[in-house]
Amino acid sequence: MLRSIAVAGLGLAVLAHATLAHDKHSPNQPPDKAKPHQHAQGFVFHDENGNRKRDPGEKGIPGIKVSNGREIVITNADGKYETHVSDDTIVFVIKPRGWMTPLNRDKLPQFYYIHKPAGSPSQKFEGVKPTGPLPESIDFPLMPQVEPDQFKALLFGDTQPRNVQEVEYMAHDIIEQVVAEKAHGASIGVTLGDIVFDDLSVFQPHNQAIALIGIPWYNVLGNHDINLDAPNDSMSDETFESIYGPNYYSFDYGSVHFLVLDDVAWQGATETARGFYKGGLGKDQMEFIRNDLALIPKEQLVVLMMHIPLVDVEDRQELYRLIEERPFTLSMSAHTHFLKHHFITKEDGWMGPEPHHHIVNVTVCGSWWRGAPDELGIPHATMSDGGPNGYSIISFDGTKYDLEFRAARRPADHQMNIYLPQEITVADAMTTTMVVNVFNGSQRSKVRMRILPDGPWKDMERVEGMDPYYVDMKKLEAGPTPVGGTTLPFPSMTDHLWRILLPPTLPVGTHMIEVETTDMDNKVYTDRESIRVVALPSPTMTRPALPGRTVNPAFPSRRP
Ligand SMILES: [Zn+2]
Repeated sequence: MLRSIAVAGLGLAVLAHATLAHDKHSPNQPPDKAKPHQHAQGFVFHDENGNRKRDPGEKGIPGIKVSNGREIVITNADGKYETHVSDDTIVFVIKPRGWMTPLNRDKLPQFYYIHKPAGSPSQKFEGVKPTGPLPESIDFPLMPQVEPDQFKALLFGDTQPRNVQEVEYMAHDIIEQVVAEKAHGASIGVTLGDIVFDDLSVFQPHNQAIALIGIPWYNVLGNHDINLDAPNDSMSDETFESIYGPNYYSFDYGSVHFLVLDDVAWQGATETARGFYKGGLGKDQMEFIRNDLALIPKEQLVVLMMHIPLVDVEDRQELYRLIEERPFTLSMSAHTHFLKHHFITKEDGWMGPEPHHHIVNVTVCGSWWRGAPDELGIPHATMSDGGPNGYSIISFDGTKYDLEFRAARRPADHQMNIYLPQEITVADAMTTTMVVNVFNGSQRSKVRMRILPDGPWKDMERVEGMDPYYVDMKKLEAGPTPVGGTTLPFPSMTDHLWRILLPPTLPVGTHMIEVETTDMDNKVYTDRESIRVVALPSPTMTRPALPGRTVNPAFPSRRP
């Protein structure tokens, strides 16, 4: 008997969908993912010896959730579940708190069973090999582990290597730093889509590099991770599935429930038009999300992870309805290759009492590994918002979270750029604006400045605009002096810039200016920039091609 009956008894929506299970398929129709029609069963068990097989004496675990991508059933007292599958279904266990699924060699969680008896259709990149007939019992091993309320996760936005050379950029620019810092003490990591850049043969070397971090690594599907020759969305994830498993799923870690979503809706090419993607979740996934959330207590923090920012997902209003009454939700994406904090309000149709925080994470590949190469031959890859490439460390504590930005190959306190001319005349001071780009800044940050050693603090004004340094770097590309490397993308508008006019009474001399930012989590960072004030311009002073920094962005300061 299905334990889901008991679940339905709690007023949850699980059982209702079981009725679909008996839909008949016309023999002339190809198996339809949306209509499960075969009975599948198995056990979730405590894998005491860690051999991934259920040995005599190894006990089933009751109360564990298992999904076929739409319905969720719960294991009974013996650890047994029953569900329904089609010939294109991935059955997966929803990792509960305090238990871990096995990992493969590349630290990828093994929490699923793919049932595609005929395998994936033939496409440019190989998908799932034929999986054969449905096994009598699909069993999921779990091993106990300690998961406190406080833990950290690493967030990688688009890593997006075009080829193995760019996997090496990632390894030397980011992974060496993460390994040197002992993965920042994180328990898990996630790549938020665009794991690779259309060449799906790069998944494997990429995974090997990520695995060096040494922690379980979850993956979100991005628009560059799909089979571009697929005629429709459901066949566009075949290669991804063969390596990472289901294109959407969920799991618990510590006190947090993670929902990993596929919001890349692929529209296959037609005879007259090329294929394209848009942001969307679709019916099946929405049904999974609804069933999933119905089993999550309201007081639990739900973290939704996706590739395309939520504000660009077509059917987001349906998702808003499912999460807006929850007091604790957070969502994150990547995809745009600039960092942004959205606070979604009723202007976008959100009806929750508090705005919903959506993080568009910094990307590992920055601006797609573009820009002049540095002393190691790695492009500086500055993002179009003027921020460096990097990653985030998110710390959880119950329902609270805190996001820390880390730039590639820079110390932890590299959190802003200060833009000032190197030299101004006394008369210039009155009209000289200092601009600061706080890479992880948001409308909830406060930024202020003072002249050291004891000038008064002055609040800076947040403005929307383009990073002035990045704009000038872009201009340099069109100038007479070659800058090397691939050209950067055009600058984007960003809302994490602050500005202020310099004090009008700066005396002649060299001054140190200090800037302090306090972020939404009350973390405080400071940085400094010097400026020379002269009576008359120095004749030997060459005007820098770029404002403020004289350092080529391609040459980051080394790790301290
Ligand atoms: Zn993308």
